Amino acid sequence: MTFDAFDLHRDILGAVAHHGFETPTPIQEKAIPAILTGSDLLGLAQTGTGKTAAFVLPIIHRLMKGRCRSPRALVLAPTRELAAQINDAVRSLGKGTGLRSAVIYGGVGMSPQTEALGRGVDILVACPGRLLDHLSQKNVDFSRLETLVIDEADRMFDMGFLPDIRRIARHLPVKRQTLLFSATMPADIRGLADDMLHDAVTVQIGHTKPIDTVSHALYPVEHHLKAALLRDLLAATDTDSVLVFTRTKHRAERVARQLSHAGFRAVSLQGNLSQSRREKAIEGFRSGSYQILVATDIAARGIDVSAISHVINFDMPDTVDAYTHRIGRTGRAEKTGDAFTFITRDDAAMIGAIEQVLGERIARKTLPGFDYEKPNDAPAQGANPHQRQQQRGARPRKGGRQERSF
Ligand code: AMP
Repeated sequence: MTFDAFDLHRDILGAVAHHGFETPTPIQEKAIPAILTGSDLLGLAQTGTGKTAAFVLPIIHRLMKGRCRSPRALVLAPTRELAAQINDAVRSLGKGTGLRSAVIYGGVGMSPQTEALGRGVDILVACPGRLLDHLSQKNVDFSRLETLVIDEADRMFDMGFLPDIRRIARHLPVKRQTLLFSATMPADIRGLADDMLHDAVTVQIGHTKPIDTVSHALYPVEHHLKAALLRDLLAATDTDSVLVFTRTKHRAERVARQLSHAGFRAVSLQGNLSQSRREKAIEGFRSGSYQILVATDIAARGIDVSAISHVINFDMPDTVDAYTHRIGRTGRAEKTGDAFTFITRDDAAMIGAIEQVLGERIARKTLPGFDYEKPNDAPAQGANPHQRQQQRGARPRKGGRQERSF
């Protein structure tokens, strides 16, 4: 099948060809015709499946028919990075169509966004919190809205955005097309879908298991040897771009610093960075000037760098879904990728859960020549914060989870 089969406007087909997309991905094959008919849609698909183009292309096609200064399509996304990437996709896939788009998120000034809204926007991509700020200031009018997209709904839920989404929906026309995408379907997302969608077409691509083009390996290691193992593993492995995940932003920052000292082109992406440094980190990673990006889950959400050859879980994620999301960053759109996960004795339960979803046992590997017996002579460096406190004899800090925040 080719994109011609969808009968999209020729300017859109031109942009698709310009992107080098030859055949639609499975979700595009199923979702594009349904969205073109105006139907609501529930898309069960993870990142890396081509889901952004699956909704952007038909939305652009439908909007090309009319003109109006207030937004006719609204895409809600959980993070600024994802929102910015969706807006980039709208711009590049809609190039030459004359449609205008804007992106709205927090952490930057309101005024440029207010001005962009004032100039007139066809497609608005927004994070919920900042959009509510604009709504309360009456900077945006959704009376002409035709399509609402809720992207990565499960992540929205994880981040506590569902009440905001419901609040935003009260500002939208009841009669509209709604598209909801989620990699997983916990009960709260099911509830949201039941409330928001009407006679929706459901498109499910795979299950919630990680994409098949990724091969997985586990590296058992003591906490205090993780940094050394990462360094030696990177030195011994042929990689393109590498995304390393840590549990906390402090660890992301520290691991990136250690890799830089060891001579790697590494940078961290975590919530302590200013917006401009985050953008610099992402852009440097995308362009290849940094080969290694060390990030927390939330910071890395939605990062779309097609040459990521390896995802390395320096720390095991908290949930199987988080594992799926992390791994979704490599092996994208029919490329292959490797997922390495460092495991300690604390991770047994999570390994079992991941293997159950994968339906297979993951290979345990060791790095030849690495000194796994090296004693822990710097106890405060390697262990997790809770263990460090115990080692120091201090009581665990109240609210220790704060470190996990983005
Ligand atoms: P997404 O799942 O939307 O994050 O997309 C993952 C990646 O696949 C992005 O880099 C897209 O540019 C790319 N992509 C989307 N559709 C296609 C296609 N039909 N053929 C090849 N690559 C695609």
